Formats: sequence, C-alpha cells, structure tokens
Amino acid sequence: MTDELHPVVDTAGLAERLGRVRADIADAAAEAGRDAGELTTIVVTKFHPAELVSELAALGVRDVGENRHQEAQAKAAELAHLGLNWHFVGQLQSKKARQVRAYASAVHSVDRPALVDALRSDAATIDAFVQVNLTDDPGRGGVAPGELESLVERVLGTPGLRLRGLMAVAPLGVPARPEFARVRALSERVRALAPGATALSMGMSHDYRDAILEGATHLRIGTAITGNRPA
Ligand SMILES: *Cc1c(COP(=O)(O)O)cnc(C)c1O
Repeated sequence: MTDELHPVVDTAGLAERLGRVRADIADAAAEAGRDAGELTTIVVTKFHPAELVSELAALGVRDVGENRHQEAQAKAAELAHLGLNWHFVGQLQSKKARQVRAYASAVHSVDRPALVDALRSDAATIDAFVQVNLTDDPGRGGVAPGELESLVERVLGTPGLRLRGLMAVAPLGVPARPEFARVRALSERVRALAPGATALSMGMSHDYRDAILEGATHLRIGTAITGNRPA
C-alpha cells in the first residue's frame, strides 16, 4: 500500500540510478569498441512490487527479469498492458515450465534435458539461453561444460525454443572477467553447432562492466538500478 510517508517507489532515486547505469554501460561499450545499441539491459525486479516495474517502464525500460515463477506470473499479469518482455532468469522446475512460457519471452536458465523437454511447444516460440555452471557446485544451476554440446543439440531439436546463446553467473569471490572470458570461449563451441546462437547473457550489478568487455549481449542488472531488495 502506498501512503505519503511510505511511498512504494522512490521514483527520483530510480531514475537517477538507471541513468547512471546506462551511462556506465555506454562507457564500457565504448571502451570495448562496441555499439551500446547492441546490448540489451534486463532490469531484474525480483522482490520489488509491480509499481516499481511500472515506473521502470515509464523510464523507457522494456526488458525485465524475474527469478521466481509465482511472483513473476503475478506481476506479468498485473502489468500485461505495458507489453514488457519478461525474462525468466532463475532456476526453474520442469513442472512450472509450461506456465512460465505463458508470460515469458525468454528463459535464461535452461540447464538440463528434462527442462528442455518440458519447455517444448508446437504453438509459440520463446528465446532460450543455455545456462553454464562455472563452479563445481551443481546447486548453483547451469549445465556442466562437459555436457554443453548435448544440451545444445537437444534445444535445437525442440520445437518452441529458439536458441539465443549462453547464460552464466560469475562465481563469488574470484575476479569476474576471466570467468566471462571462459563463457565467451564456451560460446564458440555452441556456435559450431548453431551459428546464430551468438548471445551472451552475463553481467550483474557488480560485474556488468567486465561482462561488456568480454562480449556480453544481455546484461541482467538488479540492485544497481532498483536499489536494495525489500526484506
Ligand atoms: C538477482 C539476479 C540478477 C541481478 O542481480 P544484482 O546483483 O541485483 O544485479 C541477475 N541474474 C540472476 C540470475 C539473478 O538471480
């Protein structure tokens, strides 16, 4: 609920942070010799209310990201009139896959054969990013690099999915840039099978600059734009 003492959204702060991040992205793109226009910034709005997503839309944001199905479904329904692109970026249970397809234009966390099969559709096509796990911890999500080709082949053979490329989250506690360089190298293996799958979904609030320098095409940025997530 909104009241005058506790507005749901600090619009001025949001606009300021968004402006700063956009300027930083332009700067990093220039440093990398890249055109900032080829980058898609997905603002990750998990835990924030629909009002904040509305404000972002008013500021020109077209792509938003969520990582929990129920929350994403509710916001996408409430804000359907805005025509936003909803990107699902979190770990996804196969039994929820069909429901996520109904509102998401892209799933960034395709990481196992059962999920690929569950995302199959003969009706509509959505974008798929295969998530690679850069750690040895299977709990972090993502396919192990050794299983990358077989998962890519499966996506390519599945109606209703258009393979865009790879997604990764940099591991905690190590410099991000070499990790993003690894993803770029893995992407060459993907492109040997699917030349059009050139996208790289990587870069979050603390490391998007490094990601741009290593070729990211889709940045997933939350708190640097939204401010801290509500408790
Ligand atoms: C939350 C989240 C982000 C954004 O994280 P920030 O650090 O807030 O920018 C990006 N990608 C995924 C998969 C996330 O879950």
